[in-house]
Amino acid sequence: MTTTATLDPQPHMHGVLLPGDSTTSLRSFAVPEPGWGQVLLRMKSSTICGSDIRAIYHEHLGKGPEGYQGVIAGHEPCGQVIKTGPGCRGFAVGDRAIVYHISGCGLCNDCRRGYMISCTSEQYRRAYGWQRDGGMADFLLAEEKDLIHLPDELSYTDGAQVACGFGTAYEGLEKIGISGNDAVLITGLGPVGLATAAICRKLGAQRIFGIDVLPGRLQLARDLGLCDEVIASGPDNVAEIRTLTGGHGVERSVECSGHPQARHTAIAAARRWGRIVFLGEGGGVQFQPSADLMHDQKTLYGSWVTSTWRMEELVERLVRWQLFPSALVTHRFPLARVDEAYALMASGLCGKVAVCFDEELT
Ligand SMILES: [Zn+2]
Ligand SMILES: [Zn+2]
Repeated sequence: MTTTATLDPQPHMHGVLLPGDSTTSLRSFAVPEPGWGQVLLRMKSSTICGSDIRAIYHEHLGKGPEGYQGVIAGHEPCGQVIKTGPGCRGFAVGDRAIVYHISGCGLCNDCRRGYMISCTSEQYRRAYGWQRDGGMADFLLAEEKDLIHLPDELSYTDGAQVACGFGTAYEGLEKIGISGNDAVLITGLGPVGLATAAICRKLGAQRIFGIDVLPGRLQLARDLGLCDEVIASGPDNVAEIRTLTGGHGVERSVECSGHPQARHTAIAAARRWGRIVFLGEGGGVQFQPSADLMHDQKTLYGSWVTSTWRMEELVERLVRWQLFPSALVTHRFPLARVDEAYALMASGLCGKVAVCFDEELT
C-alpha cells in the first residue's frame, strides 16, 4: 500500500478553527514552509477526540496543557511527508507518519523519557490542535522528532487513532498488566474504552465487561465482539460485576469515562489485590481509602496518554495482532463538511469520527 508523494502544495490551504460555541470555522491559511528539523505533511486522516468536544468545541474550558489558543484544531493527525526542511534525519518525502500530538522541549526529564505529553517546559511544550496548528487542515507542519513511522499494513485512519486513543489505552493496560488470568472491567465505552477492550482481547484477557450510560455504545461494544457482557450504568453495577465473577470482582479495572460514579465502580468492583487505572479525564471521585482500596490491597494507577517509544511498540503490535483501529470509525467526512463531523461527535451517537483526505475518504 505504498503511495508516492503528491504534488507540491498549493500556496493556500483550508484549516478549521473552533470558536468555542459548538460551531466550526473553515478558513484559508498560507501553506507553511518546513524549517530546520520540520516536515510538511499532506493530511490523510484526522480523527476527533472526546477532549476536543469537552474542552474546546462547546466552550474553551481548558487551562495550561488543555488551553486552546485559537490554532487549527485536531490532535489526532496522520499523513504523508511531502516536504522536509533542512536537518531531517529519519523521515523523507513519501514516508507515512503518525504525529505524536504534543511537541515537547525534548530536554526535560519527561521528554527524555519519551513522554512529551508531560513536558515541563511552559515555553516549549505545544500540543498540536491546542497551542500549535493541528490536523484539521489540508497540510500540517510538524517537528520530525514528533513523528512515528506508520507501517504499510496500517491505513492512515488506523494511524490517526494510535497517538491519543489506542496509545492511551495501551499505556494504561501496560501499566496494570493484562493476561489470561484476568477479568477486566471497562467503565465508559467511548473510543478509548472500545480501544481498551480491543487491546485487552489481544492481550488475552479472560473476560471483558463494559459499562456505559448510552445504549448505542453498549450495542456497538457487543456488535464488535469487544465485550463479553455489557451493563447499563446504574447503582447496582458493583453487585452486578461481583455476580459475574463468582462474588470476587475483577482482577483489572480500566476507568475511561471520568464520571464520579463510574470511578467509584471501577475501584469497588476490583477484587482483592486488583489493579485499577484511571484514563478518563475531568470531574472528581469520592471513595473510602481504607475500605475501598487499602484493606483489599488494591493498587490505583493514573495514566496520561503515552510515550513515543510505546507508540512505536504499539504500531508493531497492531500489525502482529491484525488489529485495525479504523474499525472503530463509524463516520468519515471531507474537510468541507467538518461542521457535521464535530456535531455528530458531540452528539455521542457514533463511534469514532474522522475527517479524511484523498484515498482515506472512500
Ligand atoms: Zn485526544
Ligand atoms: Zn520537555
